[in-house]
Amino acid sequence: MLGNLLRSDHFPRWLVASALDVLVTDASESLSELSGGQFELTHDDGEFLVVDHADADSHRPVKTLSGGETFQASLALALDPDREVEPRAATLFVDGVRRIDARVWVDEPADDTMASPALCASYAAGAVCCCAGEGVHLLAFDVRRGLFTTATHAVDIPTTVGTYGVSRAKLRPNTAPIQAWSLALQARLGDTEINTAVTARAALDGHVGSEGGDLLVIDGPLRGRQHLPRALGYIKSHRSGYLPTHLNRLVASLSPGQRTPIFLLGSSWDRYTWYLRLPCLPGAPRAGIVRLECSATLKSADAIRMAWLSQATLCRYASTEYKVTRAPQNLYPIAGLERQLRRRLGDATLLYRGLRRAGTHH
Ligand SMILES: [Zn+2]
Repeated sequence: MLGNLLRSDHFPRWLVASALDVLVTDASESLSELSGGQFELTHDDGEFLVVDHADADSHRPVKTLSGGETFQASLALALDPDREVEPRAATLFVDGVRRIDARVWVDEPADDTMASPALCASYAAGAVCCCAGEGVHLLAFDVRRGLFTTATHAVDIPTTVGTYGVSRAKLRPNTAPIQAWSLALQARLGDTEINTAVTARAALDGHVGSEGGDLLVIDGPLRGRQHLPRALGYIKSHRSGYLPTHLNRLVASLSPGQRTPIFLLGSSWDRYTWYLRLPCLPGAPRAGIVRLECSATLKSADAIRMAWLSQATLCRYASTEYKVTRAPQNLYPIAGLERQLRRRLGDATLLYRGLRRAGTHH
């Protein structure tokens, strides 16, 4: 039975079915409101059905509805912002940047003709707060330097401009060392972002009304940080198509400000997700489209509230630089934060000289 479920052709089908449950709940609420309580939405075997309360709760496939009804049903799937939902008193944006400063060699202690390659990198995480009182302001940041290596005997490299602490990367079978370093660097940066988010929230104390009156927006997937309360992952790239074809068409048809219903996305980890079109110039079918994530441990009603909140909040911060309509959407608080963090990484030439003086060779 289990083997049958896990067979590649059954697995995605199960995912789509459970995803549809949540999606239909979100869309159904909206359709019920639009139709004055007459219609609700459900699904059976991948097909959308309308429940007609004015006709003895009959179930009809969406495609058999009249033009006007179909219009309502499709409206229910492309959700306009809810005017009653207000952004939180403070919205925190968290992001990180990284840079490779030098490739170095770590000498073998027993044999000075042998050395293993390693990577010196700088990375930084930061959080900005957007609030009525102070506008956009930097709340917390953390700049670090690391020596990423698989060599067990490597030691920290102190330089005149900062110490590169050893970060051991695990060598995996069939993986080049450069990939192992890159993964280790990404993991360290991820940890630093989480710490920075926690620090930033502590620093909010007092300047934003009640505790819990904030929203945390993390640039990138929420993976590994689902435990942070009131957190959204903000994803600009669309490498994987998670949706069945008819829902992909829905995403392409969203107007600026509209979002899809939420759905549960399961891969190696679970989360609720939805697509949102930010205000943008008309252009490519995916112009302005971003994907949001929130924790799968939320009740679906709370996840739906997060989706409404994302619409009310993020559209305010959409970048107005539309030079390339196909460019991924960067929110302007995040773009500003990235610029500040890159400056704080320090001058690359100085760091490189510092490393050379510290006696590492390249
Ligand atoms: Zn603030």
